[in-house]
Amino acid sequence: MTKFKTLDDLGDVRGKAVLVREDLNVPMADGRVTDDTRVRAAMPTVLELADRGAKVLILAHFGRPKGTADERYSLRQVVPALSAVLGRPVSFVAAGEQPDLADGQIAVIENTRFDPGEEANDPALIQKLASLGDVYVNDAFSAAHRAHASTEGLAHVLPAYAGRAMQAELEALEKALGQPEHPVAAVVGGAKVSSKLDVLRHLVGKVDHLIIGGGMANTFLAARGVSVGKSLCEHDLTETAEQILTAADAAGCTVHLPYDVVVSREFAANPPSLRTCNVHEVAADEMILDIGPAAVEALADVLKTCRTLVWNGPLGAFETPPFDAATVALARTAAALTGEGSLVSVAGGGDTVAALNHAGVADRFSYVSTAGGAFLEWMEGKTLPGVAALEAASR
Ligand code: ADP
Ligand code: MG
Repeated sequence: MTKFKTLDDLGDVRGKAVLVREDLNVPMADGRVTDDTRVRAAMPTVLELADRGAKVLILAHFGRPKGTADERYSLRQVVPALSAVLGRPVSFVAAGEQPDLADGQIAVIENTRFDPGEEANDPALIQKLASLGDVYVNDAFSAAHRAHASTEGLAHVLPAYAGRAMQAELEALEKALGQPEHPVAAVVGGAKVSSKLDVLRHLVGKVDHLIIGGGMANTFLAARGVSVGKSLCEHDLTETAEQILTAADAAGCTVHLPYDVVVSREFAANPPSLRTCNVHEVAADEMILDIGPAAVEALADVLKTCRTLVWNGPLGAFETPPFDAATVALARTAAALTGEGSLVSVAGGGDTVAALNHAGVADRFSYVSTAGGAFLEWMEGKTLPGVAALEAASR
């Protein structure tokens, strides 16, 4: 079990200055936040600390200013959205200014990446930031795969705790792949094998069922001698795919490849040449754009035998109907099994979250991670520096 301290271990913080690393890297258009998911994720920790009487100093990065003060990337722009979500006044500490808060007040410190020391994890910047606070709370799992001053360095010089969002994420991930209940199924889909080689290699040693869909399934089918026509396929990786299949075999992991697929000659919504066929019947001028209904039914039966599911990557080109059908159907099965209490379901990945929202089931999974890079690195079995630093601080 991962060991880290949480806000429950933090004693009386009244009057103390708490540096809280949040993820405020929100999408913006015309000076407005267009999706406040990350702002809302920050809410429980920030409000709890404020209500416990701390002076809450929020640290975050915004965009890629590359170590210089660039107003286009000023966190000042995010303050109104944060204040609206929290329902509290939030002040802003511009570069070079010193925070001046009363107990229970909240401020956002300017973009940590304005200083080149952030990404360099520079001891001088770490000391400078540490001098502003008595305690460090890391609540930004999505930035934990970076060893930066505000995501890793601070945990070595101040008493360090996981915030509520970080805690929830780590507990969910631990349940899914750390100490999961078996049988465990993993769904890995998406466009390319090449972007998820390390994920596949790690999972074959961890899970009982590896379900491969999406464009990457084509590479595995090709490795098995199937003609995939004009499908997205990385022919130079068929040998690698073979190695993964062999490793799965050795580890006792059952790999599920589709035996029927949805194909068409053109990539468009509801194309005239749309048809469903056995994987061995794909014509030379056709593309595989989704896995077929028979495959989905078989996979649903697999999930019914499992206690844990971890999912990254859509099963088809879900943005274009009807190539969303398999992803939507299997996601709904997973949601139903989760609702019945027979499955713990954890999913993550940018397009995966979009696909689950599209299927209308994101809130019926046990946990959905909105962390992109950090979630994938965790699925690769890597130690995330920000998390490792919290663990080290708890020893
Ligand atoms: P995530 O962001 O969740 O990690 P990826 O970025 O790896 O997922 O993959 C998502 C993309 O894969 C989607 O844009 C989807 O259209 C594409 N995709 C899935 N299946 C296919 C397929 N059979 N052919 C082409 N593209 C596909
Ligand atoms: Mg993606």
